[in-house]
Amino acid sequence: MNKKELLNYFDSPPATPLQEINDETFIQKNIKLFIKRDDLIDNFINGNKYFKLKYNLIEAAENNFKTLLSFGGAYSNHIYSLAYAGKKFGFKTIGVIRGEEHLPLNPTLQFARECGMEFYYLRRSDYRKKYSDEIISRLHKEFGDFYLIPEGGSNNLAVKGSSEITQRIDIDYNYLFCACGTGGTLAGIINGVDSKIKIIGIAVLKNASFLIDEVKKLLASEKFNWEILLDYHFGGYAKFNSELVNFIKIFEAKFNIKLEPIYTGKLIYAIYDLAKKNYFKPGSIIVAYHSGGLQGLEGLRQRNLL
Ligand SMILES: *Cc1c(COP(=O)(O)O)cnc(C)c1O
Repeated sequence: MNKKELLNYFDSPPATPLQEINDETFIQKNIKLFIKRDDLIDNFINGNKYFKLKYNLIEAAENNFKTLLSFGGAYSNHIYSLAYAGKKFGFKTIGVIRGEEHLPLNPTLQFARECGMEFYYLRRSDYRKKYSDEIISRLHKEFGDFYLIPEGGSNNLAVKGSSEITQRIDIDYNYLFCACGTGGTLAGIINGVDSKIKIIGIAVLKNASFLIDEVKKLLASEKFNWEILLDYHFGGYAKFNSELVNFIKIFEAKFNIKLEPIYTGKLIYAIYDLAKKNYFKPGSIIVAYHSGGLQGLEGLRQRNLL
């Protein structure tokens, strides 16, 4: 394992642009939108996954773990990034994948396999109890010792990493928006910013009110300057419709920024919708966090969903 290279890599994240979105919608309302382009931080470990993995990989390296094990769906951005990180820094990686094996592998898992990741499939009923003693000891029997990173990479070390996201936004602003899956990134962002800034998470799953308590548990201290909007999920996790797909296409054509319909498409759509509904005071400056995840587009295209 190459610890020195790992520490170096995470010590100096590449700078990424803060891109202004000069769209009529915002000009009319006298507000400004900027997108923090962390999709550009790395081709393979990008967006929030860079920050969520940072302290987990450092912890694993410092404790001399040789193997990293984590969980995810077959199109997971986290599994993809973890597999690449394993190859880059010399860890063996195990991906515990929800559901059955489908061959040929989809582009996400194909890439992960090429990075050397080994897969272990759990049927959905077992996947639901993946952190139970029963399943974890089954995994230890199969793979020996490993450093476990939870699904989506969300644990306290991920939250610590995510709190560094906002140090890289060097303008004054009033609102910070991010997409919310497990809420780990949102919690880190809340921990990392001044309480004058309002932070808004866009839930990408249905019935996601449980996220509010999850995020509260991950906060360093009680904070009141944040909210999760629960109505921009488009039917649920990984669900979307032609309205969202058209929105993404027009947005990319206008601003040369790629979005996907699972996370960042819903995020930017929500900001447009809120602007049209006069949610923001005139003069407001809004930053949206581009959390990356564009690798998933290929799998969606292959299934003719885009
Ligand atoms: C994983 C992911 C998220 C969700 O992050 P959480 O910390 O689980 O809320 C958001 N956007 C993209 C692109 C992701 O890959």
